[in-house]
Amino acid sequence: MWRASPIREIPGEFDFSSSGGEKVEVTALEAAEIQVVNALELVHWEDYGIQVEVCDHCGCSGCGAGNWISLRRLGDSVVWIPFWSEMLKGEWELSEYSPPYFLRKHGVPIFSAHDWSLLKELIGSIPPIHEIPCLTASEMALIIQAEAPGRVLGEFPQPPKLYKDLIVAVTEGELSDWVRSLQECLSESWSSQVPVDCQSIDSTMKQVEFWMELPGAPSWTPLVQSPNGLYLQSGVGHACVHAAT
Ligand SMILES: [Zn+2]
Repeated sequence: MWRASPIREIPGEFDFSSSGGEKVEVTALEAAEIQVVNALELVHWEDYGIQVEVCDHCGCSGCGAGNWISLRRLGDSVVWIPFWSEMLKGEWELSEYSPPYFLRKHGVPIFSAHDWSLLKELIGSIPPIHEIPCLTASEMALIIQAEAPGRVLGEFPQPPKLYKDLIVAVTEGELSDWVRSLQECLSESWSSQVPVDCQSIDSTMKQVEFWMELPGAPSWTPLVQSPNGLYLQSGVGHACVHAAT
C-alpha cells in the first residue's frame, strides 16, 4: 500500500466531437503525483465496481476495457483494491475488469479521511467513508499476494500460496519457524471474511524481514510481531493488520 497523498485536481478537457458531442471540461485527480482518475465528474462512484479512467471519446464508463477498482474502508482510511469479485468470474472478466496500471505497478493506494472528505466536497456522488464496505481479511491476503516480490505468493486468480524455496533467510530467528508462521497467517487471513483492523506500527512491534532469492536479493516484510501476536503488513509502516484472531 502507498499513501495517496497529497491529492491534486488537474483541470482538463475531453473532446466528444467524434461521438457527435461537444467539448467537456473535466477534472483529473493526482495522488502523490500519480494520475489515478482521468475525469472525476464522469466516474460512477456509487457503483460496486468503479472504472477510474473513463473513455475520453464519449465519457462513458465501461466503453473501454480495464482500469476498474473497488472502494474499501480500512480503519478511518479508504483503499482502492482491484475489482477482484468481478475478475474472478472468468477469463474475459479477468482482463475486462483488470486494475489500472498505477495499481499494478505501485500497489494499493490508501486515502486519508481528510483527503476523502475533500474529494466528497468536490464530487457529491463519492460515497462517505461510513458507507464504504470494510476491507476483509481475505482481500488483505490478496493485497499481500499482489505486492509480494517475485510472485512468491503466486498470482491472482490463484489463492495466495507461498513458494517458500524463494525465501532464503530471515534477519532474526529460525527461518523454518517464520516461514510456517507466515503460511499460517496467510491461510487464516485468506479464509476469513471479517473486516481487518488497521494500526500504525510502533516501537513495541518488530517487522519480520525475509530475504529472497531473486535478482537484487530484495528483502520482504509481510509480517509484524507485536505483544498481541502476529500481524500481516502491507507496505512498510503504512498499514498493519491483525491476521490471527
Ligand atoms: Zn467511448
